[in-house]
Amino acid sequence: MKRISIFGATGSIGQSTIDLIKRDQSAYDVVALTGGGNIAQLAQDARDLSADIAVTAYEDRLPELRKALADTDIECAAGQAALVEAAARPADWIMSAIVGAAGLAPGFEALKHGTTLALANKESLVTAGPLLLAEAAKHGARILPVDSEHSAVFQALVGEEISEVERVIITASGGPFRTWTSEQLKGATLAQASAHPSWDMGQRITIDSASMFNKAMELIETKEFFGLNADQIETIVHPGSYIHALVGFRDGALMAHVGAPDMRHAIGYALHWPQRRALPVERLDLAKLGAFHFEAPDEVRFPALRLAREVMEIGGLAGATFNAAKEAALDMFIAGDIGFTDMAVYVEQVLAQMSSDLGVLSDHIRLSDVYEADSEARKRTMALGQS
Ligand code: NDP
Repeated sequence: MKRISIFGATGSIGQSTIDLIKRDQSAYDVVALTGGGNIAQLAQDARDLSADIAVTAYEDRLPELRKALADTDIECAAGQAALVEAAARPADWIMSAIVGAAGLAPGFEALKHGTTLALANKESLVTAGPLLLAEAAKHGARILPVDSEHSAVFQALVGEEISEVERVIITASGGPFRTWTSEQLKGATLAQASAHPSWDMGQRITIDSASMFNKAMELIETKEFFGLNADQIETIVHPGSYIHALVGFRDGALMAHVGAPDMRHAIGYALHWPQRRALPVERLDLAKLGAFHFEAPDEVRFPALRLAREVMEIGGLAGATFNAAKEAALDMFIAGDIGFTDMAVYVEQVLAQMSSDLGVLSDHIRLSDVYEADSEARKRTMALGQS
């Protein structure tokens, strides 16, 4: 039996992972399930999957979790230290699907124990890519990409040499505001930004898709995970979200990964890797689709894409700063304190304010530097919101 843990089990990726596990439950021994505030879901899944331990990120929710699982022998725990402890428990495969920089520490811990890390949490690679990859190499642990674009690139590279890759093209749906003018974007509401036309995801990544911060994160992830130069990475708007990424080789060939916009494909690929198993995803009827549509991305209306290029050029702590400023600005947008387009303005200002400290050589960065940059960027972003 494959021993697995799911971090961020109550979220969109976590639930899709559980959907796949439940279809073949006897093949898995579930070690840990973790969540945040959705205690009812966490307890239900822990019960259904007979997990060894259920962990909520919030200490004040522990009594509720204990009560919900009182008639079982499932262990209950809470808080950041408990999340890290759960990641240290022996497992063959861990899904990293906590949202935000909070996903970094458990992922690192899993790698320390040589566990295969199925990485959905974008923030890990964006904030600490070189550190994460070095930790994996040190302990002989494997990282498998779960973000659909990176899974697509990973799949297109099977049997190929990375040195023969000329470029990688990451597709973007364009989100709900693809055709909006700059003026309209200024007035975009939370409800409008929270409705994605093709993907069903958690609220934060959905809003990041609308602002294209999500795509910006993915460009940085691509650079870190595949070790490419910034100028080898492109993005193209493809509203249907059927092509997830394309890899261009030095002979001019382009290999595209095509599939329905359903995260269970990328999750299932990582779950069964290196095998392919049948997955409950829609099979595309290409004649019915008729055509694939592409548009050039607009870095003026969506400055997050331009900022991603800057971050990739600077390297060092720029990713951690970019992500933390983005997370803090997103919190403020969700709270109704700032407008939709203010998010990119704030992130750009914080990157500029901290520019002299960002370009540290990646080899010299420690995890504590990443956390420091993260905390400083959050503080500065919030200060901008209050000024
Ligand atoms: P969701 O918001 O749906 O779920 C997030 C999960 O993290 C939930 O289990 C949530 O718990 C938990 N959580 C929230 N805050 C904390 C915290 N501070 N500490 C520990 N756990 C916490 O997110 P998604 O599933 O959409 O995304 C998860 C990650 O995967 C993100 O990094 C996202 O960018 C990435 N990703 C998502 C894709 C998607 O299609 N959804 C595609 C590719 C990547 P609770 O809900 O109980 O509060």
